[in-house]
This record gives sequence, C-alpha cells and structure tokens, in this order.
Amino acid sequence: MLPAFWKEFLVFLEKDKKSFPLLYSLLKQLSPIELTNERLVLGCENQGFKFFLNTKVDEIERALLIHSKQRLSVSFFVLEKKTKKEAPLLSFQPAVNDVLRIANLSDRYGFDNFAVSSTNQVAYAASQAVVDSLGKAYNPLFLYGGVGVGKTHLAQAVGRKILENGPQKRVLFCPSEQFINELIEAIRGHTTQNFRKKYRKLDLLIIDDVQFIAGKQTVQEDFFHTFNSIISFGGQIIMTSDRHPTEIQNLEDRLRSRFSQGLSVDIQEPDFELRTAILLIKAKEKGIDIDINAARIIAEQIEDARAVEGTLISIYAKIIGKKTSIDLEAVDSFFTGNAEKKIKRVSPSDVIKAVCSYYHIKQSQIKGETRIDEVALPRQIVMYILRNELKMKLDQIAFILRRKDHTTVIHATNKVSRLAVENPSFKEELDRITRSINL
Ligand code: ADP
Ligand code: MG
Repeated sequence: MLPAFWKEFLVFLEKDKKSFPLLYSLLKQLSPIELTNERLVLGCENQGFKFFLNTKVDEIERALLIHSKQRLSVSFFVLEKKTKKEAPLLSFQPAVNDVLRIANLSDRYGFDNFAVSSTNQVAYAASQAVVDSLGKAYNPLFLYGGVGVGKTHLAQAVGRKILENGPQKRVLFCPSEQFINELIEAIRGHTTQNFRKKYRKLDLLIIDDVQFIAGKQTVQEDFFHTFNSIISFGGQIIMTSDRHPTEIQNLEDRLRSRFSQGLSVDIQEPDFELRTAILLIKAKEKGIDIDINAARIIAEQIEDARAVEGTLISIYAKIIGKKTSIDLEAVDSFFTGNAEKKIKRVSPSDVIKAVCSYYHIKQSQIKGETRIDEVALPRQIVMYILRNELKMKLDQIAFILRRKDHTTVIHATNKVSRLAVENPSFKEELDRITRSINL
C-alpha cells in the first residue's frame, strides 16, 4: 500500500512539474517508510540531505494535499547505508532504533533479556517458531496470562527480531486501545480508507491486550476484516490477552474461533527461579549491583514481575549514597522496615468469617460452587482481602477457596478494586469489613 501510494505520488509530481518544480527529482531519491492518517515518514541518505529537505516540507505537504486530499505532516529520517551493491532503493538500511520506533516497539524488550523457565517455556518456544516461519507456523499466536507475566515483553521480542532479520518488514505493535481509538477517529474523520491501508497489509501485527475489543461492535467488525486480510496476504498476527479466547466475554463468535485457530499458549505466574532471573536481568540493565542472595530474598518476597522491578528500584533508592551494591542487609532492612503493618496475625479463616457474617451467608457457600450474586460478590471480596491485605499468593487463595486457578483470583481482585473506585457506598462497605477484621 505504502509503496503504491508513493509511486502514484511521484507519477503525479512528474506530470505536474510546473506547479512543483524540483520536487519530483528531489523526492524520487527518497524511500517511503511509514504512512498513517496523519503523517508520512520518508527516509533519506544523509543528514545534509535531510536538512535541505526540511526546507521543502511546506511545499511537499501542499503537493500531498492536492494529490491525496489529505493533510499529512511529512518528516524525514536518515537511513543507514548498507554495504554491498543492491538495487538503489534497497541499498539503505534504517537505523535499528528508527525501525523499532516506527513499529511502535520499545527497545527494552528483546529475546536477549527474556528469561525462560517452566512457566513460560512453551510460549517462548512458540514465539521463536513464529520468528522462524512468520505467517506459517502458528497463526495467530495467542499469548495469554495474568498481569506482569511477560506477554507484552515476549510479543515485542518477536517484532524486534523480525525487524532485526529484515528491517524492511512491515511490523506494527498496537495496544488494542490504540486500534480502537484510531478506528473511532477514522470513522469520525471519514478516513477509514487510510486506516485500512495502515493495518491490512502488514507482515506482522501485534495486538496487545486484545480482550478490550470485546463488546465493541464496530471495532470487532473491523478487526475481523483486518485479521482476515493480514492472514490472507500471508502476514502474521500475534495477540496477547489476560485470558483464553473462550473466556473473553462479549467477544463475537467468529472472532473467538479465529483467535483459537492458530496456537493459544498461556504464560503462568513466574516461579521463584524465574523471578530471581528477571530481577538479575533488570538490575544489570539499570547498572545496579546486587548480591545473588539478596536477589533471592527479594524474589521470595515479591510475586509478580512488575513488582520485582519496582522493589528493586525502591531498595536501590534507599542505599544510594551509602552503599554501592544491594546486599543482604539492605534487603533485610527494607523488608523489615516495611513489614510492621503486616505482622499482625490475621488468618484467612478470620477473613472468611468476617465477610460471611457481614453478608449473612454460610462459610460453606463461600467455598462452594454457587455463582449467585449474593455469594459470588462476598467470595470475591474475600479473595480481594486475602490478596491485598494478607498479601497471600494467588494460588494459595485459589486453593483455600477451592477455585480452579489463580485467574479467578485475579479477576475477583480486579473486579472488587474497580467497584471500590466506581461506587463509594461499596467502598464504604469494604472498609467496614476490613475494619471488622482488625487488620
Ligand atoms: P504482561 O504484558 O504480561 O502484563 P510485561 O511483558 O509487561 O507483562 O512484563 C512486566 C515486566 O516484567 C516487564 O518489565 C518485563 O520486562 C518483565 N518480565 C516479565 N517476564 C519476564 C521474563 N521472562 N524475562 C525478563 N523480564 C520479564
Ligand atoms: Mg502487557
């Protein structure tokens, strides 16, 4: 799409040399890199040329407006020269960072800094397979799991690798909110044509947190066509989600079946070994020295990968100026300093008792199967308190309440937090319960 658009534009300029003298001979030396609703990015040979081109931006934008009836802002970047003789247009390679930026990828996520263990090795292997045979191995690849388990990291690593192997590949990483917003904008501004141009002929489209498109009819409709179009052109799709396609509520059936037709792999909560490895990777990236035993203690205390990184930084902030590395003592004093509040001994059954008596239900119901609201909500409140106040592990909570797995617990705690934010009287109720437990 982009090359076609560019070619047409050049033809137009060549025909109309009178209105735009110079532009044709100037622009035919550039390569189109990116085209969105708002902007066109062009690659040029060197810094000096870029400087000169910048003086022509107004004229170029005017020509584009006449040609495509679209107000595009034009920018340039310098392509790195590739060695060896190739066709002139292909003989420049954009710098890696520029390529990543255009694909909306972060330079923090690669395979190199992704640690593998039993909780994520299947997802890791599937991602590698997708790199090795893009569009052919598992299409779509659907990665799902709880918060902070590394879905975004892994999906981005694939995008990055594809671009490292072939910088000309059209890769786009797109959080689903971005897809939704762009689509809504496009509909509003009558530019759906461009929206489709952007999305439908990619070599690799990564939609992050795809669960958010559920329940939105137009978005699902358009995504369905985007999906089919990419796949029929041989492109690859990777999606991440907080749950398996069959568990996403209000998702159109045809999407659900498309999502499941490739490979769906879950990533589980990182185990202790993996948390330690992640911690060491993050410390190294930040130039923070850390003792291996200190790292282990942190990994023991903290369960999710996001919190691991945050804790590392908090501890580091405390030692700055006093020590050069994080050692056992630093970690100890950090956790004991923070621990005072948690030491009071409240057991899970205290929590269950308190919630049941508040809502006048039986303890056996809380652990039972029923899903009626009168029981389901109190059950979710129990999970929330166990998680947030007693800081229990997800699978322990699932076990105590006889739930299938930790995803139920994640769902419950998210729901209760949301309710507490949205509904002041519910928040009041929740506070009353926690006070009654004497936390
Ligand atoms: P998710 O998208 O599943 O919520 P992220 O990919 O955002 O999780 O990961 C959260 C943080 O944890 C990121 O900083 C990421 O780099 C890190 N992380 C998660 N898993 C790994 C891993 N296996 N190796 C290295 N870092 C990881
Ligand atoms: Mg994510």
